[in-house]
Amino acid sequence: MGRVSGFCAVACLLFLVPGQAVVAAVESPELRLGGTVEPIEYEIGLWLDPRSETFTGSVEIAVTILAPTEVIWLNARDLEFDTAAIAVGEGVVGVEVIEGAEGYVGLKLEQPLLPGTARIRLDYSGRARKDEVGGLFRRQVAEDWYLFSQMEALDARRAFPGFDEPSYKVPFKISLTVPEGQTAFFNTPLESRTEGPDGSTTFHFQKSKPLPTYLLTFAVGPFDVVDAGTAGRNKTPLRIIVPRGKSEEAKYAAESTKDILELLEDYFGSPYPYEKLDQIAIPNFGGAMEHPGLVTYGQTLILRDPDEDTIPRQRRFANVCAHELAHMWFGDLVTMEWWEDLWLNESFATWLSNKILDQWQPDWDRDVSIVRRRNRALRSDTLTSARQIRQPILSNDDIDNAFDGITYGKGASVLAMFELWIGEEKFREGVRSYINTHAHGNATARGFLDALEVEAGKGVVSAFTTFLDQNGAPQIHAELTCPDEGKPSLLLSQRRFEPADSPATSTQTWKIPVCVAYGVGESRARQCQLMTERQMTMELDSPGCPDWVLPNEGMTGYYRVSLSVEMLDRLLEDGGSRLTVPEQVGVVSDMNAMILAGDLTEGDALRRVPQL
Ligand SMILES: [Zn+2]
Repeated sequence: MGRVSGFCAVACLLFLVPGQAVVAAVESPELRLGGTVEPIEYEIGLWLDPRSETFTGSVEIAVTILAPTEVIWLNARDLEFDTAAIAVGEGVVGVEVIEGAEGYVGLKLEQPLLPGTARIRLDYSGRARKDEVGGLFRRQVAEDWYLFSQMEALDARRAFPGFDEPSYKVPFKISLTVPEGQTAFFNTPLESRTEGPDGSTTFHFQKSKPLPTYLLTFAVGPFDVVDAGTAGRNKTPLRIIVPRGKSEEAKYAAESTKDILELLEDYFGSPYPYEKLDQIAIPNFGGAMEHPGLVTYGQTLILRDPDEDTIPRQRRFANVCAHELAHMWFGDLVTMEWWEDLWLNESFATWLSNKILDQWQPDWDRDVSIVRRRNRALRSDTLTSARQIRQPILSNDDIDNAFDGITYGKGASVLAMFELWIGEEKFREGVRSYINTHAHGNATARGFLDALEVEAGKGVVSAFTTFLDQNGAPQIHAELTCPDEGKPSLLLSQRRFEPADSPATSTQTWKIPVCVAYGVGESRARQCQLMTERQMTMELDSPGCPDWVLPNEGMTGYYRVSLSVEMLDRLLEDGGSRLTVPEQVGVVSDMNAMILAGDLTEGDALRRVPQL
């Protein structure tokens, strides 16, 4: 890092007042940038050669100065700065680049800046690593080299200096200069290309819609492009971008994306929010990432020789594709304000992808997958150290830790439970209202819950937050009473589910939307009621004493059920034929939990499982 001198013309002197009180802290931030300077938009030029471990960049950020500022702090990691200056009006003021805490640099101004606008200009170089993922990284396939990027959560700062937090959502104008024979891709469509005298090509991309830094992505290499037609209300062009020679392997992805995107548009009642949809295969990479306009996938997930393709592989791709495309609305169009609300991205994409696949391919048994996901989340939520869905972020490690089974699985299960309680239609209206209100902006949990409350009007906020803001899961014990006269009733009592040998004895309670299924003879009925206290009596609107009662209809509710041996027998009579397959899967999991809690012996459980 070096010191860079500059000059200040008369015009900029108007903005600089020596001796003015300085508000911005000189100490480096460690977790969040603070709020005296905000970006308006970026222009970034990158010189990227996939064969080279280093790259160079030039960034210009238009910013708003909100309060007198002596040091502008930016996120930057493993970057070397060559020049740095700040333009104010027609003038330029020199700055010194100072080192901050890990992931931060400061631009120390010769004189404090007063509120107004300015442009930060930085030339720098960085590293595109070969064997790691994060920021810019490279892959070699035979003699070919490729360059990709993965910014989420905190690695955009390795690719360019900036405001690397999700709330700073602004447009980006990107140019990528690459060597001869290479093609470059970005989130937005190509606007123009220019050839350099050295054979290089500069790809100029259209200015993006407002995006947070973690959603930007770049790709450079000798790619082949598979045209997958258009889809949806705006006839969005679809392409699959593959390493050279792999076009045939994109067949299934090219055929299936259109249907998935159109089902998502129908759910949201709004068109796909970006100009194009490319999906790109990355060799030797795991997972996928929801970059708007340029979704990245591990190659084995999205590509397969059609002669060797398998149904499980196709289902895996469709599931991930539906998840990533659901993010185009949940996360991309509406972005969490801060990482503690990562569930607004991941819980929603996980929940909606199952729903979409169930509509698209009903014989794929996604309803069973949903209950399995609930079972897995409940298991990990047993730990006293389990995270909350919405866990406060106190350090950068907390951001990484937020990408876990609680955010994805528990969050999705809780959404499914509230959807069942509120009703599919009202829930969808709440989702649409939330998306429309915050489109191209940011949101918090409150924004979603308020939208839901308007549609449902059932005290959703206070109930939902008992699942969002505390860890663990409730277990509901149910007892059926059938008096000689009057309606049958269920006495329900809740406590935190804990293994019998657990040292902790929790006093937690939840506000639980309890949906009960029960049957008399051949008929099956359902009844829902919000359980707000430790105990609740639920009068069943049944003509007689039910033959069986399942206090978790569909087993989608995010709570364990504990039943007496007698109630289990009535439930599982006739081999559990009264239950759906997902319910059978859920009941077995809850019986296992009853054993752990000491509410059922292994012998009693084993004697009943063969009935299923
Ligand atoms: Zn996701």
